[in-house]
Amino acid sequence: MEGSMVIIMEITGSINEVRKQVKEWRRQGFTVGLVPTMGYLHEGHKSLIDRAVAENDRVVVSDFVNPIQFGVNEDLATYPRDIEKDKRLCEQAGAALVFHPEAEEMYAPDFSTYVEMKKVSEGLCGRTRPGHFRGVCTVVCKLFHIVMPDRAYFGQKDAQQLAVIRRMVRDLNLDIQIVGCPIIREEDGLAKSSRNTYLNEEERKAARVLSRAVYHGESMIKEGERDADTILSQMRRIIEAEPLARIDYVEMVDADSIEPLTKAEGRVLTAMAVYIGSTRLIDNFIVEV
Ligand code: AMP
Repeated sequence: MEGSMVIIMEITGSINEVRKQVKEWRRQGFTVGLVPTMGYLHEGHKSLIDRAVAENDRVVVSDFVNPIQFGVNEDLATYPRDIEKDKRLCEQAGAALVFHPEAEEMYAPDFSTYVEMKKVSEGLCGRTRPGHFRGVCTVVCKLFHIVMPDRAYFGQKDAQQLAVIRRMVRDLNLDIQIVGCPIIREEDGLAKSSRNTYLNEEERKAARVLSRAVYHGESMIKEGERDADTILSQMRRIIEAEPLARIDYVEMVDADSIEPLTKAEGRVLTAMAVYIGSTRLIDNFIVEV
């Protein structure tokens, strides 16, 4: 790949600096990949950056805890942050630029324009986190306009988010290729997440119920079961057997439209959000039936 010889990574909080840098890369004929994150990077994020580095001449990682996607009773204030560690991970992975703005750089005091989506953003996490996807769509749309990447990378860990972003790109005619990447898990199955750091030892063990339910549901479909209620009720039973777990939702939907399914047919997303103590975790699997 052209231009992949010596990349000295830069970090900036300035939108103008990002624009200037990307313009220079464009002048040199380089392709640009974007990996949007909220920081506190782990192997899941790294898998996105690795893929972006493999497919683009230059990669921008945005590292921004986006205040407008958090509800009033959510964890904005306590969300884990470690920009020095993030910088090292990005540099080692071969990113060229980390965009780490202050909230004031992204949102003027009289900020008043939002991207609002119907349908796809209304079920699953949209139901229990009203306003969440409005915040996600708005920030991602802004990041797309700031960086103007050829490709942007998102994890299937947040499967509804991926569907929402794909729909936004289609609906608003954004000329950006959206690349979905598989879920990276801990050895015991727990999907990697910045929020896993909230778990104490006992909760960390209890959190295994999410992936156990995922694996069980996936194998039921692979063995021929098609009835959503049958699959979901067995998955719920696994989770409910764990005293520290409280289900927010366990549902089966079409992976693109996020419309509920009664039968496993097509591209099927089975997704869950579960509280372990006070920490809300998500997991899912997608199968083509
Ligand atoms: P976040 O920092 O949690 O907003 O995540 C930034 C991006 O990384 C999103 O596209 C996530 O879906 C993705 N991501 C987070 N955790 C994982 C994981 N365990 N495996 C794959 N992708 C992930």
